[in-house]
Amino acid sequence: MGRAVPVTGATFDVVIVGAGAVGAACAYFATAAGLRVVVLDRAAIASGTSSACEGNLLISDKEPGPELELALYSRQLWVGELAEHAALWEYEPKGGLVVASSEPVLARLRDLAARHRALGITVDDADPAALCDREPHLNPALVGGAFYPQDAQVQPMLLVAHLLRLARVQGAEVRAGTAVTGVLRNGDRVVGVRTSDGDFSAGTVVNAAGTWAADIARLAGVDLPVLPRRGFVLVTEPLPVTVRHKVYAAEYVADVASSAGDLQSSPVVEGTPAGTILIGATRERVGFDRGFSVAAAARLARGALALFPFLAGVRVMRSYLGFRPYCPDHLPIIGPDPRAPGLWHACGHEGAGIGLSVGTGSLLAQTLSGAATALDLIPFAPDRFAENR
Ligand SMILES: Cc1cc2nc3c(=O)[nH]c(=O)nc-3n(C[C@H](O)[C@H](O)[C@H](O)COP(=O)(O)OP(=O)(O)OC[C@H]3O[C@@H](n4cnc5c(N)ncnc54)[C@H](O)[C@@H]3O)c2cc1C
Repeated sequence: MGRAVPVTGATFDVVIVGAGAVGAACAYFATAAGLRVVVLDRAAIASGTSSACEGNLLISDKEPGPELELALYSRQLWVGELAEHAALWEYEPKGGLVVASSEPVLARLRDLAARHRALGITVDDADPAALCDREPHLNPALVGGAFYPQDAQVQPMLLVAHLLRLARVQGAEVRAGTAVTGVLRNGDRVVGVRTSDGDFSAGTVVNAAGTWAADIARLAGVDLPVLPRRGFVLVTEPLPVTVRHKVYAAEYVADVASSAGDLQSSPVVEGTPAGTILIGATRERVGFDRGFSVAAAARLARGALALFPFLAGVRVMRSYLGFRPYCPDHLPIIGPDPRAPGLWHACGHEGAGIGLSVGTGSLLAQTLSGAATALDLIPFAPDRFAENR
């Protein structure tokens, strides 16, 4: 498959565009595979969506299929090859508690849990008493739930910073403040990038520009349907440990899978090591509008209170927003683009790019170095959307 093709006089095997979680993971694994790598970002490292998100590494919210397989593969890396670095990015195997407020919702949750179990995923059914044992402050009106001990959390900005630092130790160059403005070509082949800081030639250009990946693809003359899906998060004042796990309403799974453009919100509540509680997350397709939305904040607050009534007495300290890199079929785009030889993509991870970053980087490095890939990349093919247009 598409091993990095040396370009005569090229300084690098791989140019990675974008220093978010995905670009950083690609750099880490590509350098570990012995490739010469440079990472370019137009702004600071982790200045895109990777610093405007939460850091959940979730198995529980994914329907069986390619995204779940990538999440399980990523988990293998988080707890295996990368375990020695876990403390650097505050890896916390806290587990996810999915809760239901009505019997029909609980029935759907049980069905998903059964399909997860069939794949070997650990899920513990929870009745109201078990919910209370795990989270004593939960609303007692909830009818039941499911506990996923394999769900975990990291601090995303620390993740990016340390993956890039480790990549540098392995020989990578990292250039912040370097905007990619064009691609270099040799005939049809993409052989590097033009930037605000000069040209970088390489055997392969990896587009890890997250929500801006369509712009990079366009520079090479190809379309990628990556669009922004805005999300708000509320941050409370710091508290003693009150919420122990990632707790979310079962409706969240349907929201994640939906393609609706209008405002969606189902409560996701989690504590952080700093004591603040994060309350997420809305989803809406409003382009890159950075305006504060009272409607979104109100929905988040209402949803959180339905799970944890004690939050009524807790102050919200701030809110932030980010733009998820959304693809119409909710799958990331990973691998070589046959429409522009030399251009590869690692983007479009929507609301799961922190969790899936390491699996993506590992798979990309496997293909770039000519090794067999741990997963089939066909579901993630960059040209899979072409026939729908
Ligand atoms: C509210 C919210 C909550 C979320 N919660 C979670 C969660 O709990 N778990 C999870 O796994 N995911 C979560 N996500 C999704 C996750 O944040 C993203 O999927 C992930 O950050 C994408 O990483 P990335 O590296 O692809 O993109 P980014 O982090 O956006 O990095 C792309 C980089 O490309 C750079 N770039 C763009 N154009 C150029 C150019 N022309 N030249 C050079 N550089 C360029 C940008 O500056 C940016 O730094 C959440 C997202 C939101 C909005």
